Amino acid sequence: MLENRFLEYLKIDTQSCSDSQSAPSSTKQLDLANLLVSQLHELNVTNAHVDEHGIVYGRIPGNGGNQDVIGFIAHMDTSPDASGANVKPRIIRNYQGGKIQLNSDRSLDPKEFETLAKVIGDDIVVTDGTTLLGADDKAGIAIIMEMISYLNDNPQIIHSDIQIAFTPDEEVGRGTKHFDLEKFNARYAYTIDGGFINEISYENFNAYSAQVAITGKSVHPGSAKNKMVSATMIAIEFETMLPLHKRPYFTSEYEGFNHLTKIDGTVEQATMEYILRNHSIDKLNEQIGEFNKIAAFLNDKYGYQAIKVKFEESYLNMSPIIEKNYHIVENVIAKMKELGIKPKIIPTRGGTDGALLSHMGLPCPNLGTGGANFHGPYEFVSLTQMQKQVELLVRIVS
Ligand SMILES: [Zn+2]
Repeated sequence: MLENRFLEYLKIDTQSCSDSQSAPSSTKQLDLANLLVSQLHELNVTNAHVDEHGIVYGRIPGNGGNQDVIGFIAHMDTSPDASGANVKPRIIRNYQGGKIQLNSDRSLDPKEFETLAKVIGDDIVVTDGTTLLGADDKAGIAIIMEMISYLNDNPQIIHSDIQIAFTPDEEVGRGTKHFDLEKFNARYAYTIDGGFINEISYENFNAYSAQVAITGKSVHPGSAKNKMVSATMIAIEFETMLPLHKRPYFTSEYEGFNHLTKIDGTVEQATMEYILRNHSIDKLNEQIGEFNKIAAFLNDKYGYQAIKVKFEESYLNMSPIIEKNYHIVENVIAKMKELGIKPKIIPTRGGTDGALLSHMGLPCPNLGTGGANFHGPYEFVSLTQMQKQVELLVRIVS
Protein backbone atom coordinates (compact mmCIF):
# COMPACT_ATOMS: atom_id res chain seq x y z
CA MET A 1 0.00 0.00 0.00
CA LEU A 2 0.94 3.63 -0.50
CA GLU A 3 1.99 4.23 3.10
CA ASN A 4 4.39 1.26 3.34
CA ARG A 5 5.81 2.01 -0.07
CA PHE A 6 6.48 5.66 0.88
CA LEU A 7 8.06 4.78 4.26
CA GLU A 8 10.33 2.26 2.54
CA TYR A 9 11.62 4.94 0.14
CA LEU A 10 12.19 7.46 2.95
CA LYS A 11 14.61 5.04 4.65
CA ILE A 12 16.98 5.12 1.66
CA ASP A 13 19.40 8.04 1.80
CA THR A 14 19.44 9.62 -1.69
CA GLN A 15 21.03 13.00 -1.03
CA SER A 16 22.56 14.49 -4.18
CA CYS A 17 25.87 16.32 -4.16
CA SER A 18 26.55 19.58 -6.01
CA ASP A 19 30.36 19.20 -5.87
CA SER A 20 30.42 15.89 -7.71
CA GLN A 21 30.49 16.00 -11.50
CA SER A 22 29.47 12.36 -12.00
CA ALA A 23 25.97 11.26 -13.02
CA PRO A 24 24.28 10.46 -10.74
CA SER A 25 26.12 12.86 -8.42
CA SER A 26 25.99 10.32 -5.56
CA THR A 27 25.94 6.54 -6.06
CA LYS A 28 23.52 6.05 -3.14
CA GLN A 29 20.74 7.34 -5.39
CA LEU A 30 21.15 4.08 -7.30
CA ASP A 31 20.00 2.15 -4.19
CA LEU A 32 16.55 3.65 -4.68
CA ALA A 33 16.75 3.41 -8.49
CA ASN A 34 17.45 -0.33 -8.32
CA LEU A 35 14.68 -0.92 -5.79
CA LEU A 36 12.22 0.93 -8.02
CA VAL A 37 13.20 -1.10 -11.07
CA SER A 38 12.65 -4.38 -9.20
CA GLN A 39 9.30 -3.15 -7.89
CA LEU A 40 8.29 -2.09 -11.41
CA HIS A 41 9.16 -5.59 -12.66
CA GLU A 42 6.92 -7.04 -9.93
CA LEU A 43 4.16 -4.75 -11.26
CA ASN A 44 4.65 -6.23 -14.76
CA VAL A 45 6.46 -3.19 -16.14
CA THR A 46 8.93 -5.56 -17.76
CA ASN A 47 10.78 -2.89 -19.77
CA ALA A 48 11.70 -0.92 -16.62
CA HIS A 49 15.41 -0.22 -16.27
CA VAL A 50 17.92 2.25 -14.90
CA ASP A 51 20.22 3.80 -17.50
CA GLU A 52 23.94 4.64 -17.21
CA HIS A 53 23.12 8.10 -15.75
CA GLY A 54 20.90 6.71 -13.00
CA ILE A 55 17.54 7.58 -14.60
CA VAL A 56 14.76 5.00 -14.21
CA TYR A 57 12.45 4.59 -17.22
CA GLY A 58 9.39 2.41 -17.63
CA ARG A 59 6.45 2.19 -19.99
CA ILE A 60 2.99 0.82 -19.28
CA PRO A 61 1.20 -0.01 -22.54
CA GLY A 62 -2.32 1.32 -22.85
CA ASN A 63 -5.41 -0.81 -23.35
CA GLY A 64 -7.46 1.68 -25.36
CA GLY A 65 -8.91 5.06 -24.52
CA ASN A 66 -6.85 8.25 -24.79
CA GLN A 67 -4.36 7.89 -27.66
CA ASP A 68 -1.78 10.30 -26.24
CA VAL A 69 1.20 8.86 -24.38
CA ILE A 70 1.11 10.58 -20.99
CA GLY A 71 4.29 10.90 -18.94
CA PHE A 72 4.88 11.20 -15.19
CA ILE A 73 8.18 12.29 -13.67
CA ALA A 74 9.43 12.50 -10.10
CA HIS A 75 12.94 12.90 -8.68
CA MET A 76 14.75 10.43 -6.45
CA ASP A 77 17.32 12.68 -4.78
CA THR A 78 16.89 14.82 -1.69
CA SER A 79 18.35 18.27 -1.10
CA PRO A 80 21.98 18.74 0.01
CA ASP A 81 20.62 21.44 2.38
CA ALA A 82 19.86 18.91 5.14
CA SER A 83 20.79 15.34 5.99
CA GLY A 84 18.68 12.60 4.45
CA ALA A 85 20.37 9.75 6.34
CA ASN A 86 18.58 7.77 9.06
CA VAL A 87 15.28 9.48 8.45
CA LYS A 88 12.86 8.48 11.22
CA PRO A 89 9.41 9.34 9.93
CA ARG A 90 6.53 9.61 12.40
CA ILE A 91 2.90 9.29 11.39
CA ILE A 92 0.29 11.41 13.11
CA ARG A 93 -3.17 10.00 12.43
CA ASN A 94 -6.07 12.40 12.00
CA TYR A 95 -4.07 15.54 12.82
CA GLN A 96 -6.30 17.87 14.79
CA GLY A 97 -4.28 21.07 14.46
CA GLY A 98 -1.97 22.58 17.03
CA LYS A 99 1.72 22.34 17.76
CA ILE A 100 3.63 19.13 16.94
CA GLN A 101 6.69 18.46 19.07
CA LEU A 102 9.31 16.91 16.75
CA ASN A 103 11.92 16.41 19.50
CA SER A 104 12.95 18.16 22.71
CA ASP A 105 14.05 21.34 20.96
CA ARG A 106 12.14 21.48 17.71
CA SER A 107 8.45 21.80 17.03
CA LEU A 108 6.14 22.38 14.08
CA ASP A 109 3.92 25.25 15.12
CA PRO A 110 0.94 26.43 13.02
CA LYS A 111 1.72 29.99 14.19
CA GLU A 112 4.95 29.73 12.21
CA PHE A 113 3.87 27.30 9.49
CA GLU A 114 0.34 28.29 8.42
CA THR A 115 0.17 25.51 5.83
CA LEU A 116 -0.47 23.00 8.65
CA ALA A 117 -4.06 24.26 8.49
CA LYS A 118 -4.37 22.58 5.08
CA VAL A 119 -3.82 19.09 6.51
CA ILE A 120 -6.17 19.15 9.51
CA GLY A 121 -8.03 15.84 9.66
CA ASP A 122 -5.36 14.14 7.54
CA ASP A 123 -2.85 11.43 8.41
CA ILE A 124 0.45 13.28 8.16
CA VAL A 125 4.12 12.28 8.26
CA VAL A 126 6.70 14.41 10.09
CA THR A 127 10.42 14.09 10.89
CA ASP A 128 12.15 13.54 14.24
CA GLY A 129 13.57 17.07 13.89
CA THR A 130 17.09 15.98 12.94
CA THR A 131 16.84 15.35 9.17
CA LEU A 132 14.68 16.34 6.27
CA LEU A 133 11.81 13.97 5.50
CA GLY A 134 12.40 13.37 1.81
CA ALA A 135 8.76 13.69 0.78
CA ASP A 136 10.39 16.01 -1.79
CA ASP A 137 10.20 14.02 -3.92
CA LYS A 138 9.72 10.45 -2.66
CA ALA A 139 6.06 11.33 -2.18
CA GLY A 140 5.91 11.94 -5.95
CA ILE A 141 7.58 8.58 -6.61
CA ALA A 142 5.26 6.74 -4.21
CA ILE A 143 2.20 8.34 -5.85
CA ILE A 144 3.30 7.30 -9.36
CA MET A 145 4.22 3.76 -8.21
CA GLU A 146 0.89 3.39 -6.46
CA MET A 147 -0.94 4.51 -9.62
CA ILE A 148 0.87 1.77 -11.55
CA SER A 149 0.05 -0.77 -8.85
CA TYR A 150 -3.61 0.27 -8.92
CA LEU A 151 -3.82 -0.09 -12.72
CA ASN A 152 -2.07 -3.46 -12.48
CA ASP A 153 -4.66 -4.67 -9.94
CA ASN A 154 -7.56 -3.27 -11.96
CA PRO A 155 -7.06 -4.35 -15.59
CA GLN A 156 -10.67 -3.40 -16.37
CA ILE A 157 -9.67 0.29 -16.21
CA ILE A 158 -9.10 1.55 -19.74
CA HIS A 159 -6.08 3.81 -19.90
CA SER A 160 -3.61 5.42 -22.32
CA ASP A 161 0.05 4.51 -22.79
CA ILE A 162 1.92 5.72 -19.73
CA GLN A 163 5.61 6.60 -19.68
CA ILE A 164 7.35 7.18 -16.37
CA ALA A 165 10.78 8.44 -15.34
CA PHE A 166 12.46 8.84 -11.97
CA THR A 167 15.40 11.23 -12.18
CA PRO A 168 18.45 11.78 -9.95
CA ASP A 169 20.06 15.16 -9.15
CA GLU A 170 17.05 17.43 -9.50
CA GLU A 171 18.08 19.27 -6.33
CA VAL A 172 21.49 20.14 -7.78
CA GLY A 173 20.00 21.44 -11.02
CA ARG A 174 20.92 18.48 -13.19
CA GLY A 175 17.65 16.54 -13.25
CA THR A 176 17.21 16.85 -17.01
CA LYS A 177 20.85 16.96 -18.10
CA HIS A 178 20.88 13.37 -19.36
CA PHE A 179 17.13 12.99 -19.87
CA ASP A 180 16.47 10.96 -23.01
CA LEU A 181 13.41 12.52 -24.65
CA GLU A 182 13.45 10.05 -27.51
CA LYS A 183 13.31 7.12 -25.15
CA PHE A 184 10.71 8.84 -22.96
CA ASN A 185 8.59 9.49 -26.07
CA ALA A 186 5.48 10.96 -24.43
CA ARG A 187 3.17 13.56 -25.94
CA TYR A 188 3.23 15.52 -22.68
CA ALA A 189 4.06 14.85 -19.03
CA TYR A 190 3.55 16.02 -15.47
CA THR A 191 6.16 16.35 -12.78
CA ILE A 192 4.72 15.28 -9.43
CA ASP A 193 6.74 17.36 -7.02
CA GLY A 194 6.01 19.59 -4.04
CA GLY A 195 2.95 21.65 -3.20
CA PHE A 196 -0.57 20.65 -2.19
CA ILE A 197 -2.65 18.45 -4.43
CA ASN A 198 -5.05 21.18 -5.55
CA GLU A 199 -2.12 23.16 -7.01
CA ILE A 200 -1.25 23.21 -10.71
CA SER A 201 1.91 25.05 -11.76
CA TYR A 202 2.81 25.85 -15.31
CA GLU A 203 4.28 29.30 -14.90
CA ASN A 204 7.81 29.61 -13.63
CA PHE A 205 10.39 32.37 -13.72
CA ASN A 206 12.41 33.43 -16.71
CA ALA A 207 15.89 33.31 -15.24
CA TYR A 208 19.09 35.12 -16.18
CA SER A 209 22.34 35.65 -14.35
CA ALA A 210 24.37 38.84 -14.66
CA GLN A 211 28.02 39.29 -13.94
CA VAL A 212 29.13 42.87 -13.32
CA ALA A 213 32.89 43.36 -13.67
CA ILE A 214 34.33 46.67 -12.50
CA THR A 215 37.81 48.01 -13.07
CA GLY A 216 39.05 50.79 -10.79
CA LYS A 217 42.16 52.98 -10.77
CA SER A 218 44.41 52.24 -7.84
CA VAL A 219 46.59 55.07 -6.58
CA HIS A 220 48.37 55.46 -3.21
CA PRO A 221 45.67 56.84 -0.91
CA GLY A 222 48.03 59.60 0.22
CA SER A 223 48.15 61.03 -3.28
CA ALA A 224 44.70 59.91 -4.44
CA LYS A 225 43.07 63.32 -4.78
CA ASN A 226 41.17 63.52 -8.10
CA LYS A 227 42.93 60.36 -9.29
CA MET A 228 41.78 57.22 -7.47
CA VAL A 229 38.71 55.37 -8.66
CA SER A 230 37.68 52.55 -6.31
CA ALA A 231 36.07 49.60 -8.06
CA THR A 232 34.42 48.56 -4.79
CA MET A 233 32.84 52.00 -4.36
CA ILE A 234 31.48 51.84 -7.91
CA ALA A 235 30.03 48.41 -7.10
CA ILE A 236 28.17 49.90 -4.12
CA GLU A 237 27.00 52.79 -6.29
CA PHE A 238 25.76 50.35 -8.93
CA GLU A 239 23.77 48.27 -6.44
CA THR A 240 22.14 51.33 -4.83
CA MET A 241 21.04 52.63 -8.24
CA LEU A 242 19.03 49.47 -8.91
CA PRO A 243 15.35 49.76 -7.92
CA LEU A 244 15.02 48.93 -4.23
CA HIS A 245 11.54 47.44 -4.65
CA LYS A 246 12.95 44.78 -6.98
CA ARG A 247 14.94 43.09 -4.21
CA PRO A 248 13.65 39.59 -3.30
CA TYR A 249 12.70 40.80 0.17
CA PHE A 250 10.03 43.09 -1.32
CA THR A 251 8.59 40.76 -3.97
CA SER A 252 6.00 37.98 -4.12
CA GLU A 253 3.63 36.21 -6.55
CA TYR A 254 4.23 37.64 -10.06
CA GLU A 255 6.77 40.29 -9.00
CA GLY A 256 10.25 39.72 -10.39
CA PHE A 257 13.52 40.58 -8.69
CA ASN A 258 17.24 41.34 -9.03
CA HIS A 259 19.23 39.50 -6.40
CA LEU A 260 22.86 40.22 -5.58
CA THR A 261 24.23 36.77 -4.73
CA LYS A 262 27.92 37.62 -4.45
CA ILE A 263 30.21 40.64 -4.24
CA ASP A 264 33.99 40.76 -4.23
CA GLY A 265 36.10 43.86 -4.35
CA THR A 266 39.36 45.76 -4.01
CA VAL A 267 40.25 49.23 -5.26
CA GLU A 268 41.47 47.81 -8.55
CA GLN A 269 38.81 45.17 -9.31
CA ALA A 270 35.31 44.31 -8.19
CA THR A 271 32.81 41.74 -9.36
CA MET A 272 29.16 41.31 -8.54
CA GLU A 273 26.97 38.37 -9.39
CA TYR A 274 23.24 38.78 -9.74
CA ILE A 275 20.30 36.58 -10.58
CA LEU A 276 17.41 38.23 -12.42
CA ARG A 277 13.95 36.67 -12.29
CA ASN A 278 10.56 37.49 -13.77
CA HIS A 279 7.55 35.53 -15.02
CA SER A 280 7.21 38.06 -17.86
CA ILE A 281 10.00 38.01 -20.43
CA ASP A 282 9.23 41.65 -21.34
CA LYS A 283 9.66 42.72 -17.73
CA LEU A 284 12.84 40.67 -17.46
CA ASN A 285 14.18 42.47 -20.53
CA GLU A 286 13.34 45.76 -18.78
CA GLN A 287 15.43 44.62 -15.80
CA ILE A 288 18.32 43.84 -18.18
CA GLY A 289 17.81 47.29 -19.70
CA GLU A 290 18.12 48.89 -16.25
CA PHE A 291 21.43 47.11 -15.65
CA ASN A 292 22.76 48.35 -18.99
CA LYS A 293 21.50 51.90 -18.38
CA ILE A 294 23.16 52.14 -14.97
CA ALA A 295 26.42 50.75 -16.36
CA ALA A 296 26.35 53.30 -19.20
CA PHE A 297 25.59 56.14 -16.78
CA LEU A 298 28.49 55.22 -14.47
CA ASN A 299 30.91 54.66 -17.36
CA ASP A 300 29.99 58.13 -18.58
CA LYS A 301 30.38 59.60 -15.10
CA TYR A 302 33.88 58.13 -14.60
CA GLY A 303 34.94 58.82 -18.20
CA TYR A 304 36.13 55.30 -19.09
CA GLN A 305 34.69 51.80 -19.41
CA ALA A 306 34.78 50.98 -15.71
CA ILE A 307 31.84 48.55 -15.85
CA LYS A 308 31.13 45.60 -18.09
CA VAL A 309 27.94 43.57 -17.65
CA LYS A 310 27.48 40.06 -19.04
CA PHE A 311 24.14 38.24 -19.03
CA GLU A 312 23.47 34.54 -19.35
CA GLU A 313 20.15 32.72 -19.73
CA SER A 314 19.54 30.04 -17.08
CA TYR A 315 16.02 28.86 -17.92
CA LEU A 316 12.76 30.23 -19.31
CA ASN A 317 9.13 30.28 -18.29
CA MET A 318 7.27 27.23 -19.62
CA SER A 319 3.91 29.05 -19.78
CA PRO A 320 4.03 30.04 -23.51
CA ILE A 321 4.48 26.34 -24.34
CA ILE A 322 1.81 25.11 -21.93
CA GLU A 323 -0.66 27.73 -23.20
CA LYS A 324 -0.33 26.23 -26.69
CA ASN A 325 -1.18 22.81 -25.18
CA TYR A 326 -3.68 24.07 -22.64
CA HIS A 327 -5.87 20.96 -22.78
CA ILE A 328 -3.26 19.23 -20.58
CA VAL A 329 -4.12 21.71 -17.80
CA GLU A 330 -7.85 21.71 -18.53
CA ASN A 331 -7.94 17.92 -18.32
CA VAL A 332 -6.39 18.05 -14.83
CA ILE A 333 -8.81 20.78 -13.72
CA ALA A 334 -11.79 18.71 -14.90
CA LYS A 335 -10.54 15.55 -13.15
CA MET A 336 -9.83 17.49 -9.94
CA LYS A 337 -13.40 18.75 -9.90
CA GLU A 338 -14.69 15.18 -10.32
CA LEU A 339 -12.77 14.30 -7.17
CA GLY A 340 -14.03 17.33 -5.25
CA ILE A 341 -10.64 19.05 -5.31
CA LYS A 342 -10.74 22.82 -5.82
CA PRO A 343 -8.02 23.54 -8.41
CA LYS A 344 -5.66 26.44 -7.86
CA ILE A 345 -3.19 27.63 -10.46
CA ILE A 346 -0.14 29.04 -8.76
CA PRO A 347 3.01 30.55 -10.25
CA THR A 348 6.27 28.88 -9.28
CA ARG A 349 8.82 31.38 -7.96
CA GLY A 350 11.71 29.36 -9.25
CA GLY A 351 12.44 26.87 -12.01
CA THR A 352 11.38 23.26 -12.43
CA ASP A 353 12.64 20.31 -14.43
CA GLY A 354 9.34 20.58 -16.27
CA ALA A 355 10.30 24.07 -17.48
CA LEU A 356 13.47 22.76 -19.09
CA LEU A 357 11.64 19.75 -20.54
CA SER A 358 8.89 21.98 -21.91
CA HIS A 359 11.48 24.02 -23.79
CA MET A 360 13.06 20.78 -25.02
CA GLY A 361 9.70 19.83 -26.57
CA LEU A 362 7.87 17.95 -23.80
CA PRO A 363 5.14 20.17 -22.29
CA CYS A 364 5.36 19.42 -18.58
CA PRO A 365 3.37 21.24 -15.85
CA ASN A 366 3.75 20.35 -12.18
CA LEU A 367 1.23 18.75 -9.84
CA GLY A 368 1.58 18.61 -6.05
CA THR A 369 2.20 15.80 -3.58
CA GLY A 370 0.58 17.18 -0.43
CA GLY A 371 3.75 18.27 1.34
CA ALA A 372 5.37 21.46 2.62
CA ASN A 373 8.52 22.94 4.22
CA PHE A 374 10.88 20.98 2.00
CA HIS A 375 14.68 20.76 2.38
CA GLY A 376 14.71 20.80 6.18
CA PRO A 377 13.52 19.20 9.43
CA TYR A 378 10.13 20.96 9.34
CA GLU A 379 9.13 19.07 6.20
CA PHE A 380 5.80 17.23 6.40
CA VAL A 381 3.43 15.53 4.01
CA SER A 382 -0.18 14.40 4.11
CA LEU A 383 -0.73 10.70 3.36
CA THR A 384 -4.40 11.49 2.86
CA GLN A 385 -3.56 13.96 0.08
CA MET A 386 -1.05 11.55 -1.45
CA GLN A 387 -3.76 8.88 -1.67
CA LYS A 388 -6.11 11.38 -3.32
CA GLN A 389 -3.36 12.28 -5.79
CA VAL A 390 -3.10 8.61 -6.81
CA GLU A 391 -6.81 8.75 -7.67
CA LEU A 392 -6.25 11.93 -9.68
CA LEU A 393 -3.43 10.35 -11.74
CA VAL A 394 -5.59 7.30 -12.47
CA ARG A 395 -8.31 9.62 -13.74
CA ILE A 396 -5.85 11.65 -15.85
CA VAL A 397 -4.77 8.55 -17.80
CA SER A 398 -8.19 6.90 -18.07
ZN1 LIG B 1 11.43 18.45 -5.52
